[in-house]
Amino acid sequence: MARAKRVVVIGAGIGGLTAGALLAWEGFAVTVLEAHVYPGGCAGTFYHKGYRFDAGATIAGGFQEGGPHQIAGALLGIEWQIERVEPAWVVHLPERTITRWGDADKWREERAAKLPELRHFWRIQEQAAEAAWQFAARLPEYPPSSLGDVLRLAAKIRLNLMLISPLALMSMGQLLDMLGVREPNARAFIDAQLLISAQTTSRHANALYGAIAVDLPRVGVYHPRGGIGNIARQLAEALAAHGGRIIYRHAVTKIERRADQTFLLHTNKGNAFEADIVIANLTPWALAELLGEAAPPALQREVRTRPSTWGAFTLYLGVPNDALPSEAEHFQVVQDLRRPLGEGNSVFISISSPHDATRAPSGMRAVTLSTHTAIAPWWTLRKNDPDGYRRRVEEYRDRLLDAAERVIPNVRSAAQLVLPGTPAAFQRFTRRPLGMVGGFPFASLLTVRGPRTGVENLWLVGDSIFPGQSTAGVTAGALRVAAEVVRSVARRRLFQAVQLSAPSVG
Ligand SMILES: Cc1cc2nc3c(=O)[nH]c(=O)nc-3n(C[C@H](O)[C@H](O)[C@H](O)COP(=O)(O)OP(=O)(O)OC[C@H]3O[C@@H](n4cnc5c(N)ncnc54)[C@H](O)[C@@H]3O)c2cc1C
Repeated sequence: MARAKRVVVIGAGIGGLTAGALLAWEGFAVTVLEAHVYPGGCAGTFYHKGYRFDAGATIAGGFQEGGPHQIAGALLGIEWQIERVEPAWVVHLPERTITRWGDADKWREERAAKLPELRHFWRIQEQAAEAAWQFAARLPEYPPSSLGDVLRLAAKIRLNLMLISPLALMSMGQLLDMLGVREPNARAFIDAQLLISAQTTSRHANALYGAIAVDLPRVGVYHPRGGIGNIARQLAEALAAHGGRIIYRHAVTKIERRADQTFLLHTNKGNAFEADIVIANLTPWALAELLGEAAPPALQREVRTRPSTWGAFTLYLGVPNDALPSEAEHFQVVQDLRRPLGEGNSVFISISSPHDATRAPSGMRAVTLSTHTAIAPWWTLRKNDPDGYRRRVEEYRDRLLDAAERVIPNVRSAAQLVLPGTPAAFQRFTRRPLGMVGGFPFASLLTVRGPRTGVENLWLVGDSIFPGQSTAGVTAGALRVAAEVVRSVARRRLFQAVQLSAPSVG
């Protein structure tokens, strides 16, 4: 029997673990090398002074029937330890407070009362999202990178998707303009949700992608027991159950391509791992660095010309139970409608579940606050002006606490622990260059990045590839990569078998 193909996955983020576990389930010999001491990356949960804080991601979608986590879990035999969160979250605009109910009737009532300007929008959004979710559940080969992909993709398109296809070519802003939605609160409500899910606001966000992006509460937001990091922990267990292994504290420092087309992956521990196939749970910048001069010209060009993506500023708080609101566990606050979102003007706040005693010392809860921030000023100050850098950390801490006051009155006196997280912290703990997180803004369906790298048998997974950020998004991308790896190996085996059995000529 042929030797099982050796797969090395660089990074135990949600993308790397999902692809790795699926390939282990398929019979590949999988090793995951993870730089950190626990899995999850941006969707990890870390221990600090008795708390288990969600480092980045706090809300999880994609567990509904046909959702990416549900599909991967069913294949891998995972029973997800999750509970549905209802309401999904509460949005505080300066003059309106809107509850995003998952329950269809409550949400219809809420939006009619609080967002009447958007009444025509929801009908189109729900119809588009329904068709797009159904299409996504058929695991489309998008973006196509071969004729085979195009044919398989075409076979998965149904009439309901064709009916809403004009949205694929317009921005969410154009759709809102077309529907006459100009009211600033209504626009800010959509923009704030697009920023956290599409990494850009309605002016640039693609309307079809945006329709799914604002649909999350309807299909379900979930709380993984023990924190968001439990998704990664369950994936790591499934990987081991299917014969794979994870080696922690091993950062890959170089990817070497050998003459026989296999790979040698060098680590910071002085070890080297051989691989037939490499799955890089990295951004293109990090991958190019590991390849060095061996990076294909197209990848080198990509990392030279792509604009940097967002960073995140976070605050981790320990707050007594009785100082916290009870109506919801997740909140979004927009402070000023005239200012751009992000940079502390829009803040997402997540409180650990009251039913999850593992997350905080008795009587306390773990709270994560986050805002989008441009990375450049952080790094400039860090390099040239350490005092200015410290002042900036304090300023952002204050902005986030000001926003939190809307949800947790007197948060400054109530919080017994306040721990800031800057782009530098994200770079250190997730190894993402310059702390760039969240993947690329979703402006056009025609320019999204696929998983190919220009090096055969070297694939990207994670939030840099379609369909982009979120634990659900990277899981959908990983499902596609695992399927492509299986297909490419089967194709090669078939090709070799045909060559061997072909009568020799001459
Ligand atoms: C502040 C913030 C809030 C967010 N909120 C949400 C949310 O509420 N819901 C949601 O679904 N998503 C959210 N996201 C997005 C989500 O967290 C990410 O899109 C997703 O987790 C990214 O997964 P990934 O597979 O790309 O891997 P990453 O999370 O980037 O993980 C990569 C892993 O690879 C390891 N690694 C990197 N380089 C090496 C190397 N050279 N050698 C070995 N190991 C290496 C890292 O240590 C890390 O563990 C949020 C993100 C942030 C930053």
